[in-house]
Amino acid sequence: MPRYEYRCRTCGATFELNRPMSQANAPTVCPQGHDDVTKLMSMVAVSGAQSAPAGGGGGAGGGGCCGGGCCG
Ligand SMILES: [Zn+2]
Repeated sequence: MPRYEYRCRTCGATFELNRPMSQANAPTVCPQGHDDVTKLMSMVAVSGAQSAPAGGGGGAGGGGCCGGGCCG
């Protein structure tokens, strides 16, 4: 069962839930009981897929730090 990470916008707590994919976007509540919870991007690491070339000289623009708008 996949694990998803959620963040409460009321108290700022982050927590993880193991739930079926069909329930990934279902409403939930934070450990404090708030219901204003947003789902974060999956933190599953994909190793070996990308590596930033140091001094490769290939142009600017990398597409942002996380790509999910979660680091703003
Ligand atoms: Zn909360």
